[in-house]
Amino acid sequence: MPSRALGGDAPSEREGVATHCAYCGLQCAMTLTGTSAADLTVSPRRFPTNRGGLCQKGWTSAELLRTPGRLTTPLVRREGELVPASWDDALDIVADGIVRTQTAYGHDSVAVFGGGGLTNEKAYQLGKFARVALRTSQIDYNGRWCMSSAAAAGIRCFGLDRGLPFPVTDIGSAHAVLLLGANPAETMPPFLTHLVRAADAGGLMVADPRLTPTASKAIDGGGLHLQLRPGTDAALALGMVHLAVTEGYADRRFIHERTSGFDDLWPIAAQWLPERVERVTGVAVTTMRAAVAALARARDTERGAYILSARGTEQHASGTDTVTAFIALALALGLPGNPGTGFGTITGQGNGQGGREHGQKADQLPGYRKIDDPAARAHVAAVWGVDPDDLPGPGRSAFELLSALGTDGGARVLMVHGSNPVVSAPDARAVSERLAALDLLVVSDFVLSETAAIADVVLPVLQWAEEEGTLTNLEGRVLRRRRALTAPEGCRSELDVWSDLAARIGCSTDFPTDPRVVFDELRRASAGGPADYSAVTWDRLDAGESLHWPCSTERPQGTPRLFLDRFATPDGLARFVPVDHVGPAEADDTAYPLVATTGRVLQHYQSGAQTRLVAELTAAAGEMFVQVHPDTAESVGLADGDLADVVSRRGRTRAAVRVDEDMRPDVVFLPFHWGGDARANSLTHAALDPTSRMPEFKACAVRLEAVA
Ligand code: SF4
Repeated sequence: MPSRALGGDAPSEREGVATHCAYCGLQCAMTLTGTSAADLTVSPRRFPTNRGGLCQKGWTSAELLRTPGRLTTPLVRREGELVPASWDDALDIVADGIVRTQTAYGHDSVAVFGGGGLTNEKAYQLGKFARVALRTSQIDYNGRWCMSSAAAAGIRCFGLDRGLPFPVTDIGSAHAVLLLGANPAETMPPFLTHLVRAADAGGLMVADPRLTPTASKAIDGGGLHLQLRPGTDAALALGMVHLAVTEGYADRRFIHERTSGFDDLWPIAAQWLPERVERVTGVAVTTMRAAVAALARARDTERGAYILSARGTEQHASGTDTVTAFIALALALGLPGNPGTGFGTITGQGNGQGGREHGQKADQLPGYRKIDDPAARAHVAAVWGVDPDDLPGPGRSAFELLSALGTDGGARVLMVHGSNPVVSAPDARAVSERLAALDLLVVSDFVLSETAAIADVVLPVLQWAEEEGTLTNLEGRVLRRRRALTAPEGCRSELDVWSDLAARIGCSTDFPTDPRVVFDELRRASAGGPADYSAVTWDRLDAGESLHWPCSTERPQGTPRLFLDRFATPDGLARFVPVDHVGPAEADDTAYPLVATTGRVLQHYQSGAQTRLVAELTAAAGEMFVQVHPDTAESVGLADGDLADVVSRRGRTRAAVRVDEDMRPDVVFLPFHWGGDARANSLTHAALDPTSRMPEFKACAVRLEAVA
């Protein structure tokens, strides 16, 4: 077995393989030791993001490699059943389906759905496969449901989207941190090491409808919990802008010298008097005032002040405007673009950042280029060796793509890679019906996920510790994923699958299968783009260099901190954008009097397709639950431990009642890690943000019903 590093991120003489976790965007560093899947063990490795820590998911991640349900042969559906087939037969079925369907209905009749967990190499190659081999515009991915509102707001206000425009370690020295809809105590516990100083200083502040473990930590340290009603985040932001200005905390010099548009935003914020905000959000004026004062105090004493957003604030039909409003708060306080202070968003998926930069988004080409930009099309087409006019234009966003499947004008063939939309899509029952209406559903996965289980063809592919590649973490740092094991016989890389399929459907363009070669092509395709990787090489990463994009020949050392001299807008100024509060798209009423919000628990990751395979994790958290205030439960005859149906206008979810007196009486919480009757996304709805096309996962109207 090759020797890899334990201290940094480079190979060393130490036994084991230095790599990073299978799951979230913190990309904790770990060493995998052993000779086979059966005896592989995980140990944490010191790295800036995790400082030697792992969460329970990371510690148990080697279990995935020996899961009994591992697929090692393709499956094809015959007479209603999925049965084993050879790779040749399975790929012939897929290729025949693609050619036959596109001949009859055109290029866009075949669609591709990717994932934020795919390596940079696979995200890039999937985009190229769609545009060059399939020539379809119909490609999007599940990251649309994760970071798209934060990304849209970042581009709108700063001219660039990189989740954290500073190293995560910068947060560690801050005495004031405002977390918006983030619960890292459960989603990425090692992140808490960067919040210790703020918590100890009484400056950790958490805006969340629930008293999460993170919010409890804030309170325990003398910090704040802003327990807002779901979907009122923008009102909270505007009220805090109002307080920052009227109470003298605004940084007038910063606003004058480094921003534009304050006079457009202020007339709206001026209307959000603190008492009005308290009525709308439920957050006391004194709490809002204390939060603004704490940020300003930490800024003025050079003790560090940060505002960080996450999915709780972003996953709304007005998510882009909501993040825009909180960026306005950060700009009013003069936090972005200065050392020791800042605004950022915490990326969720393992390659959420890199996955949204290199072409699997409907409107995008590699390097974070726009697909409707003629210069971008010309550059990327030259790298790919095709005519720019042959590249398709922008396609549909994730939910729009899925909800059009099998309809007139929608795709009739879908290929899914690294995603489980049967569980993770909003209004998942309706999406499942569209998937069932397809002529051909092809799913590449390493186990039979809920989506693979309804496919016509299932292709068994590699998983994390069986492949080489790169990922880009929440701070824009490119990392090496390294192979610790040879995959079971019968499994193939998606890079092989796309190369083989491209040839079978008659595409003459080369699709390399060596990830290092793919990355070198990605570097050329990204050169000159906003996310420029042209000077990042595997050799430099293997030598332990820490490379944050943009990393080009002009800036070969990379860019850990963005915006220190100027923002990425044409005039170099950050933008205040006039936005207002609109509230949730679906109002509660007498039939559906509660607001349901969804999220994660410590033991599980996203749709649970991976973590539900790990015995230790399912033993600790194997049951769907709904968290309810005791008065709310009692009002419908429910007690702790009872089974309840949570019912929305779209469907119902069965869950065990967990009574919690810290819940708001008008809110219930459900985790979204399970399928079947326990699928939280049977309730959610797909009101889409007009800019990002993010569905409103975090607020829908429901009622509780006791189960007899
Ligand atoms: Fe780290 Fe996230 Fe993996 Fe947990 S799941 S070990 S926080 S990368």
